[in-house]
Amino acid sequence: FDDLGGFVETSNEVETEKHRDRDSRTVAEKDKEERNMLPIHAYRDELLKLIEENQVLVIVGETGSGKTTQIPQYLREAGYTKRGKIGCTQPRRIAAMSVASRVAQELGVKLGHEVGYSIRFEDCTSDKTVLKYMTDGMLLRELLIEPKLDSYSVIMVDEAHERTLSTDILFGLVKDLANVRPDLRLIISSATLEAKKFSEYFDSARIYMIPGRRYPVEKFFNKLPEADLLDTAIRTVFQIHETEPLGDILVFLTGQEEIEKAETKLKLRMIDLRTKSSEIIICPIYSNLPTELQAKVFEPAPKGSRKVVLATNIAETSITIDGIRYVVDPGYCKLNSYNPRTGMESLLVTPISKASAEQRAGRSGRTGPGKCFRLYNVKDLEATTVPEVQRANLASVVLTLKSLGIEDVFNFDFMDPPPANALLKALELLYALGALDGKGEITKLGERMLEFPVDPMLSKMIVGSERYKCSGEMITIAAMLSTGNSIFYRPRQVREEYLADIARMNFYTENVGDHIALLRVYNSWKETNYSSQWCYENYIQSKSMRRARDIRDQLAGLLEKIGVELTSNPNDLDAIKKAILAGFFPHSAKLQKDGSYRRVKEPQTVYVHPSSGLFTASPCKWLVYHELVLTTKEYMRHITEMKPEWLIEIAPHYYELKDIEEARPKKTQRSGRSPMSKVGDTNKKVKRY
Ligand code: ADP
Ligand code: MG
Repeated sequence: FDDLGGFVETSNEVETEKHRDRDSRTVAEKDKEERNMLPIHAYRDELLKLIEENQVLVIVGETGSGKTTQIPQYLREAGYTKRGKIGCTQPRRIAAMSVASRVAQELGVKLGHEVGYSIRFEDCTSDKTVLKYMTDGMLLRELLIEPKLDSYSVIMVDEAHERTLSTDILFGLVKDLANVRPDLRLIISSATLEAKKFSEYFDSARIYMIPGRRYPVEKFFNKLPEADLLDTAIRTVFQIHETEPLGDILVFLTGQEEIEKAETKLKLRMIDLRTKSSEIIICPIYSNLPTELQAKVFEPAPKGSRKVVLATNIAETSITIDGIRYVVDPGYCKLNSYNPRTGMESLLVTPISKASAEQRAGRSGRTGPGKCFRLYNVKDLEATTVPEVQRANLASVVLTLKSLGIEDVFNFDFMDPPPANALLKALELLYALGALDGKGEITKLGERMLEFPVDPMLSKMIVGSERYKCSGEMITIAAMLSTGNSIFYRPRQVREEYLADIARMNFYTENVGDHIALLRVYNSWKETNYSSQWCYENYIQSKSMRRARDIRDQLAGLLEKIGVELTSNPNDLDAIKKAILAGFFPHSAKLQKDGSYRRVKEPQTVYVHPSSGLFTASPCKWLVYHELVLTTKEYMRHITEMKPEWLIEIAPHYYELKDIEEARPKKTQRSGRSPMSKVGDTNKKVKRY
């Protein structure tokens, strides 16, 4: 591979042993076979028998073997749906949606009828739904309403190897449920060989391996250290395009932003190299990709062209894209990490694990021999990824567990327990928010907060707004913060960018801060009767706005459910700020001499995020922020100015006068009351749990 000169073959890793000899058949025959016969079909009856005989079954099978799309259909054919629904959980929203739509298509039914999906803020099911795909987080929420999941006959915890926080919590809960519901069947399915661990956890549950069909994958790695991985990845794509036979290329990238960058670079290079636009079809796929664009990735490339799929690690095991013959893997993914000491949560670009590297490579060898181009040395990787439960903020799940009557969260049956201080921090926060009482029991307020499918601080902000008569404003702000996409559109051209910034600053007059600016955007849009034209003129993303409206409607319904009147108080900015503080008082920060900020209760220096409307404004002394993001520095995103005395008014159990005293001599500020000892104080209260 002279043209791929930078790469050397790691021949010892070629997996010839898994190769099945099929060479006697013609390509057409093979093709047809691939389409018509998924590996799992041959084992249908055996699987059904095992499910009947074993309450818990661990199923392992190569990605694309048909676990997610076929098993629920088999169960339906075998009559399980007469006893109740089949629920199948997915760690990712987009996987739940895409798989449900595929199964509906296979069954020839309308999505949302017999086959449906449920993800946060989007329920596409009906009374008829018997095959229900959902995110693991949604099943957790269903448990709150239906603790024994009586309406289900089978629960399939799919993609178990992903070990997301919600999946790990579900493990403990469904394991318990199996004892009280002998008729319930549990399937734990995974794409990797972690099966033993799952089996042990589920009291030596039976393991069934779906015999794989995998072709050899030749692996190459880049022996030259590369400065710009994205550039290298793009270059590799073109090298493959120019030197290798037809077949689609899958590039693993870290997120939407990187995918968009890659798309631009690819297009520019296509122009440079005079590549015809009919030769390469670029298909991005990531979780926030609008639904109507998602289908494109599954469509076969037209004759004579090849698809270049730019994907996040969603394409690692969650969804299967047929036709991939080449994988380009820069070796990174985004993982969330949480520091229990500071409460700082961040998404960090992290090297993938060896297990992930294997999975990614495997994506090229599903329908024929494949090639994987690694831009790293696999020897440098950790064996597996740390499960999310050990690197996540646990406040939300702890509240859920408490509501389910699990008093001692420290002794919950975790497959891998989280650090004790992370649990402690969660309890401490929930206590401070008033969701738990001094005995660690869930309060009336906590129960009301749980009605909202958002983080505890945000739900406290919503529920707490009753007092300030601005619940309408709070659900608007909460909805605008929950769209998962940015509201303001930032064009790339300098002049356009300038105009967009001016348009945006119109919402920030009087330095109102980001929360209230979001509120103004929504209200102005509403006044135009939800006009897309208005969005366009004001550099607002109309898709995000429609989603915000959708979320807001749902939050309004939930307010009604808990008996909070929908009241509006748009001109009383102090009331609005106080309501925000009611949920976010732990996120307070004070201006320092050097222009940075310091968290009031933690010894942590933080900065105003450049995306904030207050970034260029004259700095306010005290502020409350929505979240911290770590990029080059620890940045506060979505901030609002506040008055320090409100901290005492709203959270007297959390703040003391000395926390907000100004102009303290430097010495005492350093030694006397160290914020760490404050944390210690609160811990004492928490120790009683
Ligand atoms: P597994 O869960 O074992 O990884 P799946 O059941 O997801 O496997 O996939 C089985 C087959 O179904 C794949 O080969 C793929 O071709 C097809 N498939 C799955 N989802 C879609 C989709 N949204 N669109 C088109 N084909 C799909
Ligand atoms: Mg699957």
